[in-house]
Amino acid sequence: MRLTLAKTCRMWRAARRRLSSAPSPCTYEGAPSQRTLLALKPDTVQRGLIGALLGRFEQRGFKVVALKMLQPSRELAESHYEEHRGKAFYERACTFIASGPLVAAVLEGRGVIGATRAMIGGTEPLECAPGTIRFDFGAHWRRNLVHGSDSETAAAREIPLWFRPEELCQWEHCASSWVYELPTARTRFDE
Ligand code: ADP
Ligand code: MG
Repeated sequence: MRLTLAKTCRMWRAARRRLSSAPSPCTYEGAPSQRTLLALKPDTVQRGLIGALLGRFEQRGFKVVALKMLQPSRELAESHYEEHRGKAFYERACTFIASGPLVAAVLEGRGVIGATRAMIGGTEPLECAPGTIRFDFGAHWRRNLVHGSDSETAAAREIPLWFRPEELCQWEHCASSWVYELPTARTRFDE
C-alpha cells in the first residue's frame, strides 16, 4: 500500500481520535477501576512467601501501584483493625500484625476488591476452598497470611492509613490491553 502524506495524516488523526475518546485507563467498560489495600502479614514475610503471594495478584493482571515493607506501630495496627475494636480477638489481631515487618501494597484493577478477597479466601484457612491463598498456605485463622480490604469503603479508609498520596504511583501496565478489552486493544467487541 502506497502511503501519501494526506493518507498518513488521515490515519494519524483517526488514531488520535480513537485514543482521545478512550476512557481513562482506570475505567473498564464504563466501570471505574478500583484500588484495594493488600497486606502481606508478618507470617508471610517470615515464611519467605512475599514473592509467591504478591506474584499471584500480578499474574491475575492486577497492577501494583504502591508497595513497601514496614514495621507497623501498635497505633497503626489498632487503626487498621478499628472496625473490630471491642471484639474478643481485636487485641490479638493487632498484636499479630504489629509483631514483625509486613509488606503493604495497593493493587489496582477491574473489580480488584472482590477478586482479591476471593483469591485470599475466608478467615479460617481450614474452611477455605483449594486454590485460595489461605487454603494453599495456611492452617490457622490467626496465621492467615494476607489482608485485603473487604469493600470500597474499607479500601478508602485503609489505603491512606498505610500510604501517603505521593506513594501511590500512576503508571500504565504495558499488558493492560491484553488483560482487559481497552479501546486501544487489537481486538475488542462492542456489546
Ligand atoms: P479477614 O482477615 O478474613 O477479613 P476479619 O476482618 O474478621 O478477617 O478479622 C481480622 C483478623 O483477625 C483475621 O484475619 C484473623 O487473623 C483475626 N481474627 C478474626 N477472627 C478471629 C477470632 N475469632 N479469633 C482470633 N483472631 C481472629
Ligand atoms: Mg477483615
